[in-house]
Amino acid sequence: MNVFDSVKKVVTKTAKDAAKVSGELVEQTKLKLKVVELKDEINERYKKVGELYYTATEYELDNGDKINSLISEIKALKSELEDVEAEVKRNKSIKKCSVYDAENGAEDDYCSKCGNKLN
Ligand SMILES: [Zn+2]
Repeated sequence: MNVFDSVKKVVTKTAKDAAKVSGELVEQTKLKLKVVELKDEINERYKKVGELYYTATEYELDNGDKINSLISEIKALKSELEDVEAEVKRNKSIKKCSVYDAENGAEDDYCSKCGNKLN
């Protein structure tokens, strides 16, 4: 199955339960984008730490404070990344029923609360 086939499949699936399912896909896509952005931001800071450490050694500068504040930022970004990744994982493992918004397992075909057929 090529990329276009899988996109077509997603689009067809979305059309079946329009607003609901597309809303969830948009949400999941946004979260995945956020993961990419956070990883970029972390890498940018790693690079800066490397440069500061290099210039500190090469030119005997005291970059300790700058490095420490970058490390704090990296820690905060990493914990945000963990939260977003956990949310992506959680969204993957549930199927929401359109009737009562009840959460079901990803493998369920019918809603455990109302018996509605799940997409
Ligand atoms: Zn239901």
